Amino acid sequence: AVLLEGLQLDNLAAVEMLRANFEVSCGRCGARDTVTIASSAVASGSGSSSSHQAAATGQCQRCAAAWSIVMRPHFVHATSNSLCVIKPEGCCPVDLLPSLLGGQCGECNAVMSLRDVQVGLPFSRNCSSCHKEISIYMAAVSFVPKGPPRSAAASRRGVARPGAAAARRPRGKASGGGAAELRPGQPLPALGTCKHYRHSYRWLRFPCCGMRFPCDLCHEDAVSDGHPARWAQRMVCGFCSSEQPLALGCRVCGHQLAGSSANPSGRSTRFWEGGTGCRDPRRLDKKDPHKWRGRNKTISAKQSRVGPKPWSGKGGAAGGGGSGSA
Ligand SMILES: [Zn+2]
Ligand SMILES: [Zn+2]
Ligand SMILES: [Zn+2]
Ligand SMILES: [Zn+2]
Ligand SMILES: [Zn+2]
Repeated sequence: AVLLEGLQLDNLAAVEMLRANFEVSCGRCGARDTVTIASSAVASGSGSSSSHQAAATGQCQRCAAAWSIVMRPHFVHATSNSLCVIKPEGCCPVDLLPSLLGGQCGECNAVMSLRDVQVGLPFSRNCSSCHKEISIYMAAVSFVPKGPPRSAAASRRGVARPGAAAARRPRGKASGGGAAELRPGQPLPALGTCKHYRHSYRWLRFPCCGMRFPCDLCHEDAVSDGHPARWAQRMVCGFCSSEQPLALGCRVCGHQLAGSSANPSGRSTRFWEGGTGCRDPRRLDKKDPHKWRGRNKTISAKQSRVGPKPWSGKGGAAGGGGSGSA
């Protein structure tokens, strides 16, 4: 079941999913993809009960594994936050993306469409018939599994690499979603870190496309149309997967998730990082090439003419040679 957490309906009697966009991860390779499922109620309105269902099939863009999702929409109203039941095969739903909902005005019962409703962003419009303002807000979405989890491939992959090391090691954007469903209370893949920010333990929800990424660079890598990222206002904690307003710490589990926005890695870096990190050569890490830049402006060609000095082992190291030969 797909539950809407922190749901607020204003002047809306009922809401129903008409065209859903889900983010899924491939059950075999973990690649992320987006799925659109259009309910048959798009044409018929919300008069009938929720007996209709809709389905979508496709295949993974990376490993070509086939998947399918069957969706059965529910009526969402003040006392029920269950949006729909979905049955995924060969994939795992990980997020609800901006979708088309149908809403019924609480004042005049007119039914109208609510376009691009997204998690974490208030939506409002005026009723098409009585012109009263209606609005909907959902703070988070959660996927509550039914039956045994179908993530054999993903868990096998997790066992191959021991838990702590796998969590600490940043993985690529696509393989980062390799772990199965995201569940509240469970940590995100790689604790929400990415290859760009290894000490930022969260995902951000970008309002431009409604999708979650560890950082704006991951967003840049992943979006197909190349739209620029808008500043995120919501985040998902890397330790407990709870979605909440952007902050430096998680208000659910209390973990510190990031440093200040000027220093998102949350530590005093010892690397150059394109000029935004450490700029003091004495404090730079010895593996950073900037530490040695400009130290030895004149590089002797003698070594290439006569070979390495016999007492220096295997030829002077690029950095150490300067002081050692005095
Ligand atoms: Zn795949
Ligand atoms: Zn109305
Ligand atoms: Zn975006
Ligand atoms: Zn990143
Ligand atoms: Zn947390």
